[in-house]
Amino acid sequence: MIAILGAGISGISASYHLNLRGIENIIFEKKSSWGGLCDNFTIGDGFRFDYFVHLSFTKDDYVKKLFNQSSEYILHNPISTNYYKGIWLKHPAQNNLSPLSTEEKTKIIIDFVNKTNDKEPQNYYEWLLFQFGEYFTNNFPGVYTKKYWTAPSKELTIDWLSGRFSIPSLENILKGAFEEQDENFYYAQEMRYPKKGGYKSFLNGMASECIIEANKEIILIDLKAKRIDFSDNSFSHYEELVSSIPLPELVKCIKDVPQNILDASEKLLCTSGQLVSLGFNRPDIPKNIWFYIYDEDIIPARAYSPSIKSPDNVPFGKSSLQFETYYSKVSPKKQSGNSLIEHIVNKGNKMKLWSVNDIEVQDYREVKYANVVFNSERNKNVSIIHDYLKSKGIYFIGRFGEWDYLWSDQSLLSGKKITQVIVDDKDH
Ligand SMILES: Cc1cc2nc3c(=O)[nH]c(=O)nc-3n(C[C@H](O)[C@H](O)[C@H](O)COP(=O)(O)OP(=O)(O)OC[C@H]3O[C@@H](n4cnc5c(N)ncnc54)[C@H](O)[C@@H]3O)c2cc1C
Repeated sequence: MIAILGAGISGISASYHLNLRGIENIIFEKKSSWGGLCDNFTIGDGFRFDYFVHLSFTKDDYVKKLFNQSSEYILHNPISTNYYKGIWLKHPAQNNLSPLSTEEKTKIIIDFVNKTNDKEPQNYYEWLLFQFGEYFTNNFPGVYTKKYWTAPSKELTIDWLSGRFSIPSLENILKGAFEEQDENFYYAQEMRYPKKGGYKSFLNGMASECIIEANKEIILIDLKAKRIDFSDNSFSHYEELVSSIPLPELVKCIKDVPQNILDASEKLLCTSGQLVSLGFNRPDIPKNIWFYIYDEDIIPARAYSPSIKSPDNVPFGKSSLQFETYYSKVSPKKQSGNSLIEHIVNKGNKMKLWSVNDIEVQDYREVKYANVVFNSERNKNVSIIHDYLKSKGIYFIGRFGEWDYLWSDQSLLSGKKITQVIVDDKDH
């Protein structure tokens, strides 16, 4: 039997694709429900929230097919906005500067025209300067990076960027500075979301074919005895191990793991998320599917609307928003629990998004593993851990097994790909 650790999309995909090959496997999941980051929760009288924004913009036909077989979907044109010094700008801000003061627009455009592109950028800050010039960098992505990635842009590498940014031409910057543009410059032109059941409905087809043992938190892995122990005092034997659980959690569980592997795992950096979810007693509170917040006195980095993603996410005639705030080892929480809810409720009121009487339900929760941070320590330490796991015959998959910036489609494909590797290894 192959034991798969974690029932997120990568673990479910690994199990589904092993089943297609007739290979026996079981998924062990610590939570009471499957889905991992693609899971959701419901509060009040039917307000459903995903964990973070979650829309599918996959270009992969195989993933599209699996998702479509699982659920009918709503197609969204991803028109989002930015909140900056009390002003709303269409996204991406660099292409839609028109609401800014003439003074700020002039500074942005002069710096864009004068930027020097004579040396290859060595870090994310230099890359931003290279693309946008100094004023825009320091006031927009520079500030946002600290909020979203929890580290300054100078400390981030650039190997995670490809295709994730919209790079403006001078012509488009000028057009957007004179008047609002209709063209959508976002890197994904359309996004899909299940009609019913939240984002995890895209996984239904695969999950229905898998054996998932829930409430099974792995606490110890004995590689010699090929045995996994769970926090409920039960255990299981396995022939092969496929892990999607975060590398730092995995190595902690391995009996007699060498100290240098533990040390490497402690140097990995990821962000954790604080989710403040608000349900409103009227339908018209959110205006856009999501928006970014640049102002530093407003703690969350961005918000999205589950009710715009699908009306099935709220009771009839209601609406909802979820605010995402990030923290990490290098950037502790500023506020939490009820005080963060209160902060957001008050700021939203000042931003004229709602009045306090519009709020029907509110919820606060934390997610320990959100985004992998690409700092200069990442590559070296991920290689040390991956080499060790390979030497012990442990297969790793998904966002936190690969320790990479994977979207849900890529995590799915990571789980699929490993099944071929397992078969090839068996043949040799
Ligand atoms: C802020 C944010 C926004 C995102 N937005 C999008 C988007 O719009 N579109 C998109 O395609 N992707 C998006 N993603 C990415 C997507 O969520 C991931 O690629 C995908 O869900 C990762 O799946 P996974 O299976 O690799 O990991 P996970 O979903 O984390 O699954 C790992 C599983 O392991 C379990 N586990 C952990 N420790 C143990 C243990 N000790 N024992 C047993 N089980 C354990 C966990 O409970 C979890 O269920 C977003 C991610 C974030 C953080």
